[in-house]
Amino acid sequence: MSAVTIEGVHKHFGGFHALKGVDLEIRDGEFVVLVGPSGCGKSTLLRLIAGLEEINEGRIAIGDRIVNDLSPRDRNIAMVFQSYALYPHMTVAQNIAFNLRLAGRSRAEIAAKVSAAAKMLELESLLDRRPAELSGGQRQRVAMGRAMVRNPDVFLFDEPLSNLDAKLRVQMRSEIKSLHQAVGTTSIYVTHDQIEAMTLADRVVVLKAGSIQQQGKPLEIYRKPANRFVAEFIGSPPMNFFTGRFLREDRRAAIVASDGTAIGVSRDLAIEEGRIVTIGVRPEHLTLTGDPDGLRGRVKFIDPTGAQTHVTVELAGEPTVIVLDSAVECAPGEILTVKVPRDLVHAFDADTGLRIG
Ligand code: ATP
Repeated sequence: MSAVTIEGVHKHFGGFHALKGVDLEIRDGEFVVLVGPSGCGKSTLLRLIAGLEEINEGRIAIGDRIVNDLSPRDRNIAMVFQSYALYPHMTVAQNIAFNLRLAGRSRAEIAAKVSAAAKMLELESLLDRRPAELSGGQRQRVAMGRAMVRNPDVFLFDEPLSNLDAKLRVQMRSEIKSLHQAVGTTSIYVTHDQIEAMTLADRVVVLKAGSIQQQGKPLEIYRKPANRFVAEFIGSPPMNFFTGRFLREDRRAAIVASDGTAIGVSRDLAIEEGRIVTIGVRPEHLTLTGDPDGLRGRVKFIDPTGAQTHVTVELAGEPTVIVLDSAVECAPGEILTVKVPRDLVHAFDADTGLRIG
């Protein structure tokens, strides 16, 4: 049993309230990613689970043991850090074996476990090297090997890929995912990178200022963000927002922005006539149209990314990003006619930011 239960957890650092009552159930074998901007408390939550910080209020259980008062060593967790924390004077094999040696395991058991981990992580040919003779990705693999051989109940990852270059990050992401599929150990992974969160997680937990904003499957959060913060944080490039007054006619509904632009939205939105709301549209959902009813926007910036081009136009007074196929050509200053898909418009309360409908 290696579910993790977090109940009413608070953490203060002096006068600073870093975690404000966090409740979270992590199922046995689940891969949960804690994501949020710098300072939101995600590493603090991980460190509380690891036992590296003390809880001020609330409970954390691993399986059926409440671990609040257990030392890190007695929690049967393994942590993988961004900094790898390898011993420079030891070989790869000795680094992987280190905790097993410390625990007084037999030579035969250590050799078998190191060999199994090395095979799974493709480190077999590197076992006699020292960390200085390895690439960043290989070092991270050694750090994972060292965590794996302990057969922990839970793996905790604290931004393990942030020291790697972009290409290696993508490769290691897949490796961590297939490792989890192979071993099935409950994993809690902290990152500020929403793409890493989306690709790795069974469940994403979005944090802001010490509170959980939303948790769910990656696509659920992408399709139905609970508030404007989550809508903006998840998705790349970030969602576009417009604020205006909601108006409904016989067959149509729209938001009228302060510059008078009417942006068509679904009639089914549960919004009273005249209310000021904020709507959000993802850049990948905007398209170009020949329809004269489309919205006209002047091109400000063009960012080619390869397969796609991110074009920023001025729409309803707001800089608005559209993701276009890179075959579409346009130039700064040009006017594009843009179609907003009514059914993919998200609506939020203009004051609280909470999702409407
Ligand atoms: P990052 O992505 O930058 O690491 P994070 O979401 O992991 O951010 P935490 O490290 O959990 O953030 O920190 C949450 C807040 O608590 C931050 O505002 C941080 O300054 C504060 N904090 C963390 N550790 C301490 C400490 N030991 N003493 C005082 N404040 C701390």
